[in-house]
Amino acid sequence: MNRDLVEDRISRVLYSEEAIRQRVGELAKEIAGDYTERGLAGDPQRRPILLVGILRGALVFMSDLARRFVMPVEYDLISISSYGNGTAPGAVRLVKDLEKPIDGRDVLIIEDIIDTGFTIEYLKRSFAARNAASVRVCTLVDKVARREKPVEIDYIGFSLEEDAFVVGYGMDYAELYRNLPFIGVLKPEFIR
Ligand code: IMP
Repeated sequence: MNRDLVEDRISRVLYSEEAIRQRVGELAKEIAGDYTERGLAGDPQRRPILLVGILRGALVFMSDLARRFVMPVEYDLISISSYGNGTAPGAVRLVKDLEKPIDGRDVLIIEDIIDTGFTIEYLKRSFAARNAASVRVCTLVDKVARREKPVEIDYIGFSLEEDAFVVGYGMDYAELYRNLPFIGVLKPEFIR
């Protein structure tokens, strides 16, 4: 299937490539400013902040965001899966853990989109239990209408009020559309 056919499945572009590029730059500036102000960045004696990207959706966002930081950062990846139609709604499972311990580290979780909030809530709890020095959250898209678990989100790229299923810029439906450079709404006939 070629790229045109994929793009034909998008009913509406929500955030263009240029809008994302600009917003990612603003976020990088805001985050670097905050961490510098709190004394957590820019000190050569201190470990750099650790970006933790949630596989696989946050890969594209994290790679762009990381390259816009003027401060040094390290990064690691974690993979989480939700238990579909199980008996415990919202239960999540760790598929791939971090490579290294995070005790004493300043962790910034990077997510593509926050939906019900269960994933982030689980990770924040897990990282706090591992004695991270600080845990903050940055998401490119905050799908506010669908929140079930109240979670504090420190940095938000775009706040999405409507309950739409979006794809592109790392986000998928059945593993497709991740490499679209923009974020758009998938036509309902392509959602099964
Ligand atoms: P939560 O635990 O419900 O907040 O789940 C967040 C995860 O669900 C994200 O990391 C995405 O992988 C996925 N997700 C939620 N909404 C969308 C969407 O509109 N498009 C693509 N993936 C989504």
